[in-house]
Amino acid sequence: MSSTIPLAVIGGSGFYDMPGLSQVEEAIIETPFGPTSDSIRIGTLEGNRVAFLARHGRGHVLLPSELPQRANFWALKSLGVERVLSVSAVGSLRQDYRPGHFVTPHQLIDRTRGVRASTFFGNGVVAHIAFAEPFCPAMRVATRQAVEAAGATVHRDGVYVVMEGPAFSTRAESELHREWRADLIGMTALPEAKLAREAELCYATLASVTDYDAWNEGRTVDATTVFATLAKNVATAQLAVRELAKVLPPGEGCGCRTALDSALVTQPSSIGAENRERLRPILARGLGENGMTMLVTGWVALDDIETPFGKAERSLGGSATATALAGALFTDVRILAVVGEDFPDAHRRKLEHPHIDTAGIKTIEGGKTSVWGARYSYDMNSRETWYPELGVSIAHLPPVLPEWRDSTVACLAAGHPAYQRDLIASLDSPKVTLVDTIKMFIDENPAELRETMRLADFVTLNESEARELAKLPSIARAGRSLVRRWCEDGHHQAGRIRRRPD
Ligand SMILES: [Zn+2]
Repeated sequence: MSSTIPLAVIGGSGFYDMPGLSQVEEAIIETPFGPTSDSIRIGTLEGNRVAFLARHGRGHVLLPSELPQRANFWALKSLGVERVLSVSAVGSLRQDYRPGHFVTPHQLIDRTRGVRASTFFGNGVVAHIAFAEPFCPAMRVATRQAVEAAGATVHRDGVYVVMEGPAFSTRAESELHREWRADLIGMTALPEAKLAREAELCYATLASVTDYDAWNEGRTVDATTVFATLAKNVATAQLAVRELAKVLPPGEGCGCRTALDSALVTQPSSIGAENRERLRPILARGLGENGMTMLVTGWVALDDIETPFGKAERSLGGSATATALAGALFTDVRILAVVGEDFPDAHRRKLEHPHIDTAGIKTIEGGKTSVWGARYSYDMNSRETWYPELGVSIAHLPPVLPEWRDSTVACLAAGHPAYQRDLIASLDSPKVTLVDTIKMFIDENPAELRETMRLADFVTLNESEARELAKLPSIARAGRSLVRRWCEDGHHQAGRIRRRPD
């Protein structure tokens, strides 16, 4: 996964593909609310990253009442989606909103029957979102302009009644909705709009009118008529989506992105780990857990381990691997490393965690993956290490991807100190930098390493490395000496360490 996806499109009836979406990757996201309606297709459309989800599944296999909407929105949010356009087929409750026309509704009336889960909250976390304006105003304007650019008729406003379905309305119900001054009737805009607001996504519905519902005598609605008009509308909607992808509305000023600031009632300290995990993408920003993206560099390598009890050969190893997998437990991780052509696919799959962006792992043509060897003694404490194959990690030092310069935490696992320094310098404004090193670099050029340590907020050293760097045999003395020399404020071997002002 990568940092953000400015637009996601939920395709309704008939809208099962997004023509023009290129370089498509399919994401299957596990969510605490079960599987999504379909895999999420992520690609490039008109130069922007766009995600596409077929609301009813590609073969249209889910009734409106059966849609896993919480899973869908949880997954979109976890992918870094910022805006959602939901395309929905509707019936018209007024003469001038004709079949073939489009509407960007401004209001909703909920006539679902309470069988749809319509909130992420509950089970110990309480939030009441403001919902007086259920759609993002900026998205509505941009969507309307996109439909106009696609050459179709679009009406600015509409009150959309969401019914449970799957049967269409009776004539009496249709008349009733008209008396309520509703303009459109459909089956899906709720709970979508509520969940989108809870997930702090900009959300609008593009309603495509397929029929006149049941009020218009002599034009009784049936699925065949609906689907015939639908096919034409879908082609127009797809054009409109391409137009929208060209000109994304601004994300500020509408309030959607901060909807939970005034909505979350439960004290953060009362939200336990289980709920934080269940609602992770939803609550991350509000709980201050967002905005943290961890850049990890170092080795993605192979380990040969020997112990008196058994042996493992070419298992997945490397400092970057361990750091990335650990970091992914609590935040989004970007991993920058090189591997050889021999790097096994099975290992690669282990790194393809939903919270690890592996776009920075480069395979070096004709190269061999670095191998680290260790032999442990009976107590599994002391060991000897060596490098059976130094591999590509020594010679190839990948620069940070331009879109990763905004990383807020940099974990620079063992790597050449000059390279670590370059990486720190190439980040926009990292909040925390952690530098790890190994004996190889302490032996090679300690002065260069010290230069790098000056730039870091944290330096991790194991016992022997600390002794070696300080040139003192006692770990306690080595720790004190390093802290005294390198840290403004520290305590024994570890402690509060702040960058020393130059
Ligand atoms: Zn918005």
